[in-house]
Amino acid sequence: MKTILVIAEHRRNELRPVTLELISAAQELRQADDKVVVAVIGSKAEAYTSALSVTGVDEIVTVKTASEEFDPDLFEAAVSALVENRKPSVVLMAHSVDTLGYAATLAKKGNFGFATDVFKVEYDGAELVATRAGYNQKVNVEIDFPGRECVLLAIRGSVYKQAEGATSPTVSALDLGSATSRGKNLQFVEAGGADDVDITGVDFIVSIGRGIAEENNVETFRELADTVGATLCCSRPIADAGWLPKSRQVGQSGKVVGACKLYVAMGISGSIQHMAGMKHVPTIVAVNTDPNASIFTIAKYGIVADIFEIEEEMRAQLG
Ligand SMILES: Cc1cc2nc3c(=O)[nH]c(=O)nc-3n(C[C@H](O)[C@H](O)[C@H](O)COP(=O)(O)OP(=O)(O)OC[C@H]3O[C@@H](n4cnc5c(N)ncnc54)[C@H](O)[C@@H]3O)c2cc1C
Repeated sequence: MKTILVIAEHRRNELRPVTLELISAAQELRQADDKVVVAVIGSKAEAYTSALSVTGVDEIVTVKTASEEFDPDLFEAAVSALVENRKPSVVLMAHSVDTLGYAATLAKKGNFGFATDVFKVEYDGAELVATRAGYNQKVNVEIDFPGRECVLLAIRGSVYKQAEGATSPTVSALDLGSATSRGKNLQFVEAGGADDVDITGVDFIVSIGRGIAEENNVETFRELADTVGATLCCSRPIADAGWLPKSRQVGQSGKVVGACKLYVAMGISGSIQHMAGMKHVPTIVAVNTDPNASIFTIAKYGIVADIFEIEEEMRAQLG
């Protein structure tokens, strides 16, 4: 029997949805009598046990620390103690700004196998294989970890479905002793656009790219999105120009629109980096004047046309 350890992520007293995705990843990975243990770290760790009691979780371990907010030193100490105590073969954590602060150090110190931004994980016989992108998202790289007793994987968000269904796992506590931090949280500052809609959770997106030509045209497509009940998103040049907030950018350095079912790409060429955020969407409609635009290679419906003509037509038909 092996143990898969999931590290819960929370911020400002709320469990982050990626935690439930990690539990799904653990469920998919588990074999026969493997055990899924979810660890939650923080001064109010026990407050999350009910939200974490979802199908597939066998045990929840709370690790009390001095701070409720994320602290890299305390998380590193806590996960290290958890690995020592529970001897997991795999540790799943989010590929997030939090784990960026301690995962690599932890893996190095513990001599663990390690991979970040993983979007697929499975066993090939007895070998654990993690898949992530390489060479600027141009190829997928399969990584194995020969000889490692414990493998730590940071999993990309919005790839796995959120685990659901209630269950009653065992709840236990692990004493961290006197772990201390070199840092101190002074205040919490929201990143720009944090009060904006979370595009990873919406199901219908109209997305604009450089084909809109100028800032004045953003309003036209905002109105179109409102008319058809979609959320307006964009490619990176539009966000870089400040025409839409960064929080609306889809792609490798933007967001993966995990819940999207219908994605209408208007004047977007389909770079590897943009497609990294939306190529999984079941129905992609692309409008582009260039019949050779890469976006057509993943579109279910391709329209070789001017986006302004199609915008008018959509409004007339759907508005
Ligand atoms: C490390 C790195 C990370 C990156 N991350 C991201 C990311 O997260 N998201 C992202 O989007 N990009 C990202 N990029 C940038 C990416 O490489 C592309 O430059 C970008 O996606 C191009 O955006 P676009 O498709 O809007 O523009 P373009 O590539 O210029 O395409 C515009 C398209 O509009 C079409 N068009 C023009 N006029 C019309 C019209 N009137 N009607 C119809 N079609 C028209 C053109 O034929 C063209 O295909 C990243 C790049 C790097 C190096």
